[in-house]
Amino acid sequence: MTQEIFRDDAYCTEAEATVESCDARGIVLDRTIFYPKGGGQAGDAGTITRTDGTTIAIVDTVKGAPSPLGAGRGEGPPEILHIPAPDQNVVLSPGDKVKLRIDWERRHRHMRFHTATHLLCAIVPHQTNGCSITAGYARLDFDMVEPLDREHLERELARLVGEAHDVRTVWITDEELDAQPDLVRTMSVKPPRGVGRVRLLEIDGVDLQPCGGTHVANTREIGALRVAKIEKKSARTRRVVLEFADA
Ligand SMILES: [Zn+2]
Repeated sequence: MTQEIFRDDAYCTEAEATVESCDARGIVLDRTIFYPKGGGQAGDAGTITRTDGTTIAIVDTVKGAPSPLGAGRGEGPPEILHIPAPDQNVVLSPGDKVKLRIDWERRHRHMRFHTATHLLCAIVPHQTNGCSITAGYARLDFDMVEPLDREHLERELARLVGEAHDVRTVWITDEELDAQPDLVRTMSVKPPRGVGRVRLLEIDGVDLQPCGGTHVANTREIGALRVAKIEKKSARTRRVVLEFADA
């Protein structure tokens, strides 16, 4: 099972790790700073460097099959597969020590956009039914029939960014959630049950919802946003596309 460094420290850009396996599916490590595509957020790119200094370019990170826990112990969370760019020499053996480095410029854009989508959840009081976060844009689909006003969204986003709210993750157990029905009521997305422990993303005084993604530490770090598009995707879906205003 891979230790997920990005869950506790989204700002970690370099780390050392040991190779667990390397095959046609990708590279599995004992620990990683590469976020695997999931929860709408794109996977990380970067490099894996061998002890001899040669480097493997990683173009994407994805979740694979559940990880084996050993004889009779069932299955763990999905493996994290680091996908090498094509046409490289990708010979790695279990036990090899490697240095990891993520494409920070790309990841930081994912973090800024991901936190921005949570702000949007706080502004638009409707459930979401789709989400895509890339380095170029963030797209969020709301389950609603009312029209959305671009100027209102941009103004409110700018206000919440400018107010510089702290962003933090909080782990909470099923029992703690059951004991606080009011807390669950305030969440813009309802937490899953039966997994024992849920990771919540809290934007101080603004939004609280379960999320496994990577986020900036303060909303001011998001910077200026523009609502690039508001689309009526279906009778019951309104799609909002965000871009950075300086891009
Ligand atoms: Zn999220």
